[in-house]
This record gives sequence, C-alpha cells and structure tokens, in this order.
Amino acid sequence: MTNNRVIVAGGGIGGLAAALTLHQVGVPCIVFEAVRELRPLGVGINLQPNAVRELYDLGFTERDLDRVGVPAKEWALVGLNGNDVYSEPRGLLAGYGWPQYAVHRGQLHMLLHRKLVERAGPQAVRLGSRVTGYRKNSDGTVSALVEHADGSTSETSGALLIAADGIHSAVRAQMHPTQPPIDWGGAIMWRGTTWAKPIRTGSSFVGLGTHLQRMVFYPISHPDPRTGLAMINWIAEVTMDNAEGWKQSGWFRQVPIDDFVHHFDNWVWDWLDVPALIRQADGAFENPMIDRDPVPTWVDGQVALLGDAAHAMYPTGSNGGSQAIMDARVLGATMVEHGVTPEALAAYDAKLCGPISQVVLRNRGAGPFGLLNMVDERCGGVFDNIDDVIPAKERSEFMAGYKAAAGFAIDALNKARPTISDGARALSNLMA
Ligand SMILES: Cc1cc2nc3c(=O)[nH]c(=O)nc-3n(C[C@H](O)[C@H](O)[C@H](O)COP(=O)(O)OP(=O)(O)OC[C@H]3O[C@@H](n4cnc5c(N)ncnc54)[C@H](O)[C@@H]3O)c2cc1C
Repeated sequence: MTNNRVIVAGGGIGGLAAALTLHQVGVPCIVFEAVRELRPLGVGINLQPNAVRELYDLGFTERDLDRVGVPAKEWALVGLNGNDVYSEPRGLLAGYGWPQYAVHRGQLHMLLHRKLVERAGPQAVRLGSRVTGYRKNSDGTVSALVEHADGSTSETSGALLIAADGIHSAVRAQMHPTQPPIDWGGAIMWRGTTWAKPIRTGSSFVGLGTHLQRMVFYPISHPDPRTGLAMINWIAEVTMDNAEGWKQSGWFRQVPIDDFVHHFDNWVWDWLDVPALIRQADGAFENPMIDRDPVPTWVDGQVALLGDAAHAMYPTGSNGGSQAIMDARVLGATMVEHGVTPEALAAYDAKLCGPISQVVLRNRGAGPFGLLNMVDERCGGVFDNIDDVIPAKERSEFMAGYKAAAGFAIDALNKARPTISDGARALSNLMA
C-alpha cells in the first residue's frame, strides 16, 4: 500500500527524527540511506532545549540522553588573555523547562536508529540505497529514484518525498538546479575528542580565542566516576584565505594531528594546555566551515527538504542538529493538520523556510561568536575588564537577539504548546 506512504531520503539525524515522528502520528514511511552500514560517526553536537523537548515528546528519556551525552550547564567565551568575555547558564539552569544536551553525534544517531527499528521494524530503513532524484507523477504521487550499493537501480513511489540527504543533497540539486556551489568562508575546523578533566562547571561550552582563530571545547559524556575524566569534544578552528575555494575532497576526513596542531603551539595556560588536549586525542577530522546560500522554498509539490538539505549552516550557533529535529516535528504537526498532502508541505515551508534561512545568514556572520568579533574590533582582543569594552547590557542584548532568532528564547519556548500534542494522528487523506 503506497497511497499514504512517505519516502525519506537520508537516514541521518534529520531523516530518522522525521521517520520517528511520522511513525508517531500514524504515517507509514520508508527511509533510504546511502551508506551500507550505519556507524557512530562524528564527534560532538548540541541539542538545544527546544530539540530535547521534542525528543522527550517522541518518548526518549533523560536516561536515553544521558547515555549519549551530558546536560550542558554553561556557555562561555574567553579571550586569549584567559579573561571571560561572556558567560551564561544553559538548559535547566538558565530557566528552560528542558535541558540542553551536549552529545556524541554518532551515539545519538545510533540511538535514533535503534528506536526507529524497535518501533517500526527493520524494514523501515533501507541501507545502501542512494536517492539520486525524483519524479512527480500525474496521479499526484512522487517516485524516488534509488541507486543501490550493488549498482542496481529502482523507483519507489509514495505520497510525499522528504529529502534529509544532507548538505550535498541530490534532491535539493534537482529542486534548485541553479543553486550556487557550497559556500566556504575560509574557516577550517579540526575536530576530535580527548578524555580529560572537565573545567569550570564540569559541563561548560568554552569558546576561546578570536574570531579568526579559536578553540571550542565541551564535555559530551558524564565523567568516569573512577578517573573523573570525561570525553571532551574539541574544535580547533583557523580562518584563512578562501580566494581559491575549498580544494580538498571530502568534507569530513581524518587527518594527522601534526598537520594542524602547530597553529595552537602557544595556547598554554595554567588552567588549559590546548596542544596537549589535541595531541591526546585518538584522531582528528578536518571539516571546512561550509554552508549553502538559502533558497526561496524548500518545497516542490510533493517533495520537501529537511535538515541540512534545507538549511546547511555554520555550526557557530550549535543548532544544525537541533533544527533538523525541529523541522521533523513541525512537518509532523502540519501532517496532523493537513494530512499526508502537499498542503502539509506548503504549511511546513511557510512556517520555517524564511526564518531559518535568516538563521543560516546569522550563523555565517559568526552567530553568537559575533561577540568575539566585537572584542577584536574594539580593543584588538586585549582587555582587562570586558565591561570597559562591551558593557554587560550590550552583551546580553546581543545574545538575546540571537536566541530569539534561533528559537531558543526561554519564555517563548516554555510557554509554547507541544508541537505535536499527545496521541495526535495525521489527518486522514480522505478528510484532508
Ligand atoms: C558522517 C557525519 C558526521 C558528522 N559529524 C558531525 C559532528 O561531529 N559535529 C557536527 O556538528 N555535525 C556533524 N555532522 C553534521 C550534522 O549531523 C548535521 O549538521 C545535522 O545533524 C543535521 O542532520 P541531517 O540529518 O540533516 O544531515 P546529515 O547528518 O548530514 O545526514 C544526512 C544523511 O543522508 C545520507 N545521504 C546523503 N546523501 C544521500 C542520498 N542521496 N540518498 C540517501 N541518503 C543520503 C548520509 O549518509 C547521512 O546519513 C556530521 C554529519 C555526517 C553525515
């Protein structure tokens, strides 16, 4: 039976969150994932309170999330002199009704997959199946064109196609054939994890340095009770000349630590030894800071983009993964209201495409790290007391502006009704 079935292209965080949501509201779906085997790839990402709320509403528990991450307590920016530029509490400590979690991306991915298979069965996810494009059929259905790992091809039809196939989305390329290439602003991130003692609150996100060179680190596990060591996710970042564009193949590839650690040779304080933190990692991944220019719509009739396929963004706001989960939930809500129909996709597009495209552009402008740009502009990064450089009120207003735009405003989130109310089902197509 395919008349109500939704096809999801891509089984990353966005695609699996979409499939779990569709299952919750009673919509049959099938996920086509390009890789032959799912492995716990990636390092740290943050789940903002809005996304954690949605995971709870999907039946995930605090215990589930504690197995893949740790509640975040603080977000802090520190200058190269070791002095605080800004710090604020996060999650429950900030007054949100839900925690913020700093998690291991790969372990979260495996958790989402495990839950989907438990609930919808192993047939829900087809591995080794790359969606190469789509065809809108005259009977109102849509066909996904699929290339399998053995080289064979097939077509699968359904009522709707949701493309969660990431930043290099094939579906987006077909939907927007004139889209410009990937945008690289010149920053390269090297990412890794190291077992080390957490500092400050024990679960602090620390952004250290300037807007041209910085180190971001935060724990993504609870500390081992015996050693006190936690898995610390770190991102070492340098901005360089981007005149020639991004030349390397691959956007998340393993590289030797010696290739980049020299950029941070002098970053040693009595409270932190950056070169040692980097060198003690098992390995490191090179990852250019890339995004895509926003497009005017994420929808083409029966086809919608979701997650990075819709809005690949710089990770400066720690919200790419959270927004992919939010997209999935808003999509589910519009199906509750409009059924499994193009109208549901149009409502999803109307709600998210404009505002989230603005977040993409804000993140390109440094997102909340914009405070470091202000410090550099005003005092060249040298200061004794940050109040003399950026008054506390201005710092708070800057952060509040970012949070409101990204959907993290505390009161608005706490007062908002659930995106999908308990027990809601997608409106039957016969009634839609
Ligand atoms: C391997 C990997 C590691 C990552 N590690 C980090 C990290 O450490 N930190 C961080 O901040 N972000 C990381 N990201 C990005 C982060 O997961 C996303 O920005 C965010 O979670 C949004 O998720 P998404 O599901 O939209 O996209 P993605 O997470 O990119 O998932 C897209 C999925 O679609 C699959 N796919 C791609 N093309 C096709 C196709 N044509 N047909 C079918 N399937 C397809 C991919 O294999 C992937 O599983 C990583 C992404 C990947 C794929």
